[in-house]
Parts: sequence; structure tokens; C-alpha cells
Amino acid sequence: MKKFFAALVTIIFMTAAFATVLAASYVGNANTKKFHHADCSMVGKMKPANKVFMNSRDEAIAAGYVPCKRCNP
Ligand SMILES: [Zn+2]
Repeated sequence: MKKFFAALVTIIFMTAAFATVLAASYVGNANTKKFHHADCSMVGKMKPANKVFMNSRDEAIAAGYVPCKRCNP
């Protein structure tokens, strides 16, 4: 029974983490300090380590990120 609960907790935790990534509308680049719409082509070229997920434009600007010139977030 303990194994069942451990598996359940793991599934809930992973689902929550996945939902956070999906809910993010903006993706910042920690290296260039620019942020993009989640569907911008530049996001696909970004190194996963540089990706910073954000839920709002205000959040990105408050963190010092500049809007991308290509996707105009
Ligand atoms: Zn962009």
C-alpha cells in the first residue's frame, strides 16, 4: 500500500510540474535576457538550460527581460 501512495504522489507532482510548463505563455532566455511567446521559433532554438518560463508579460519585464523583436510578446 505504501508503494501505491508513493506512486500516486509522484504522479501528482509530475502532473503539476508539467502543467506549470504548459501554462507558461512566455519563455525568457536567461542568457540573452530576451523573452518570447511560448510558440516563437526562437524558443525551439534555445538551450533548455537557458529557458525561463513565465506566466505573464509583467513578470518578464519585472525580471529585467526585453521583448523579442521577432514575436513581439
Ligand atoms: Zn521571439
